[in-house]
Amino acid sequence: MKRDFVTIDDLPDAALSNLMDLADRIRTNLRGHAADLPGYLMGSLFLEPSTRTRLSFEASMLRLGGRVITSSDPATSSAVKGETLADTVRIVDSYVDVTVLRHPSAGAARLAASLARGPVINAGDGSHEHPSQTLCDLYTLRSERGPIAAQTVVLYGDLRYGRTVHSLARALVRFGARVIAIAEGGLNLPEFVVEDLASRPGYGMCMVQINDLEDVFRRRGVEAMLVAPQTELPTAKAGEIAELSMRTKKVHAIYVTRLQKERLRGDAPSATLPILDHRFLKSPTFSDSIVLHPLPRVGEIARELDSDPRAAYFRQAALGVPIRMALLLWSCGMVDLDVGHPHGTRLVPCRGAECVNPGCITVKEAPDFAEVGRDAQGRLRCLFCEERASIS
Ligand code: ASP
Repeated sequence: MKRDFVTIDDLPDAALSNLMDLADRIRTNLRGHAADLPGYLMGSLFLEPSTRTRLSFEASMLRLGGRVITSSDPATSSAVKGETLADTVRIVDSYVDVTVLRHPSAGAARLAASLARGPVINAGDGSHEHPSQTLCDLYTLRSERGPIAAQTVVLYGDLRYGRTVHSLARALVRFGARVIAIAEGGLNLPEFVVEDLASRPGYGMCMVQINDLEDVFRRRGVEAMLVAPQTELPTAKAGEIAELSMRTKKVHAIYVTRLQKERLRGDAPSATLPILDHRFLKSPTFSDSIVLHPLPRVGEIARELDSDPRAAYFRQAALGVPIRMALLLWSCGMVDLDVGHPHGTRLVPCRGAECVNPGCITVKEAPDFAEVGRDAQGRLRCLFCEERASIS
């Protein structure tokens, strides 16, 4: 079977752990792998801006002894002449052994994977997912804070359009971690992620109010979504929202995202994110938390944090190379991860329905490929972007 990596659920938990173990081994001797993928060619097809993801994938392939061809400027690709993604992908796939795709539309990577002969890796598809960033995030959490199951992670910022947190929240909950999602400007986690988190056996979620983080977030009554084992959820009086005290909580990491200005759809256009600065450094809640960010940061983290040992975002970016080297070795069939079946329930295809997400690739440019399915609860979902669909 072709080894695509479109969503974080394409790899089960054991496979994710095995990839991290492999990255650990690679990391001890980054220069010692130049004979691992000789003769292999990777196509980087980046139809949306990128610095770290593209360069770390390319560095990874080159360090493995393979080669790279790149199309990284959407303005000079045939997309501006009106070529569909479907056509572009078929061509690139016929030139290379593995395609790494970034695209502004949700579901683009699933579409590409369904058409390509070779493996396709999702390097970010609209506001859907960014699973290789999650590999890097999990790997950083494990390297710096130990077993992921034991951790409590605060996700903070634009959680609706920040695709990295969609893949990350799913993975954290799969590993048994606790997630506290603090969204700014009403930009909460999208429904498809929330429903997925809620469906994990033994897990539950509830909205909570945090009143003791005023020093960091500059307001009282910060609302958050807590996702944790059922037994750990606070109880609220009927009609009230439960209070969550953070003073005594051990938070292993705070994961910050920027406002995804390029994706806001008239919702919260003026939202700004409070800056994480010296107040954060002094907060007892976060005294032992590392700070992660998929980068680029555009003001959400003050530079004064950079010299603090808890600022882990540059270390996190550096780990992108060994973990992506491990991923490429798997995608190209050089290692087995005992993957078994992909995680999660696959959708059952359903006729006569269509995706209603304006950001989905099937709505934007490839309606011929539109396919909708029902999830385990009978809800209609797009097979590409995973958002709700409706009967036409
Ligand atoms: N680099 C990440 C992404 O492509 C995060 C971001 O752009 O905010 O999703």
